[in-house]
Amino acid sequence: MQVLVSEVGPRDGLQSIKRTMPTEAKQRWIRALAASGLREIEVGSFVHPKWLPQMADAEDIVRDAVQIPGLTVLALVPNLKGAQRAMAAGAHKITVPIAASQLHNMANVRMTCEESIDAVAGICRLRDDAGSKTEVEVGIASAFGCTREGRVSEDWVMEMAVRLARVGVDSIGLSDSVGYANPAQVRRMFRRLISELGSKAGGAHLHNTRGQGLANVVAALDAGVTTIDASQAGIGGCPYAPGATGNIVTEDLVFLLESMGLDTGIDIDKLVAARAILAEALPGEPLYGHVPDAGVTKGFAYADPARSYVPAAEPREACNSAGAPA
Ligand code: ZN
Repeated sequence: MQVLVSEVGPRDGLQSIKRTMPTEAKQRWIRALAASGLREIEVGSFVHPKWLPQMADAEDIVRDAVQIPGLTVLALVPNLKGAQRAMAAGAHKITVPIAASQLHNMANVRMTCEESIDAVAGICRLRDDAGSKTEVEVGIASAFGCTREGRVSEDWVMEMAVRLARVGVDSIGLSDSVGYANPAQVRRMFRRLISELGSKAGGAHLHNTRGQGLANVVAALDAGVTTIDASQAGIGGCPYAPGATGNIVTEDLVFLLESMGLDTGIDIDKLVAARAILAEALPGEPLYGHVPDAGVTKGFAYADPARSYVPAAEPREACNSAGAPA
């Protein structure tokens, strides 16, 4: 079975870092990520540069990324204007942020949830009128809880998902950018989403704020989810969750999936090597991940028997039970 790992670092990660990664470095990084086998990358955001100067080069980044063979290029758009810009640049997919919590949505896009659904309907109409094949995706944020409202009604999340499907959204996923989700809830809600939406049920966007990220991934897989978001080195916190570490780490996710027999098509060593571009372009920025530090396990094999894993020349030093080199 295949799982699609959707890399969100160049958008979700970089927008939460105050410094701006140079356009040339972003392009090199995206190419390195794609060369590792990632088939979908969220490369930028068409938010007004006044709000997110780090994303001011979104047009250039999308135009460059769509040249990469076999890569699905995704861009975030907050509104109709952003959708026009993203489609003009050639983005294959656009993703529109909406939160299930009224307070979160108001803080994020200054609209009620209902107004946001209408805005998405407008984006779908724009796409259809233009005869564009651009896919429209929504990840419902605060689907598992909200830093402002606490608990969020599961019934309301499902109602939003159904309304979004009705107005023409191609794929509706659930997002936990504040790290409130637990595995039982993730399993229950994705099962329900899939039964309500069928083929329009989208992926899982999970954060590791409270260390539950990969446990939540396994729960999402149990429910039948086949697209999981992650960011290289786990970059990307959340402006509404101060001090929070960010997205689940792509490198650790790929190791988890392949070890469980789920095919990602990603070369784990090439993926880890792409971190060097981040480290060079954003010196001092914390880069997270366990697999990049510890390496893969002895005897590690990819899920696809046609792909053989060749370990690096020197095995890493063994540790004794105290954790010191043996
Ligand atoms: Zn995120």
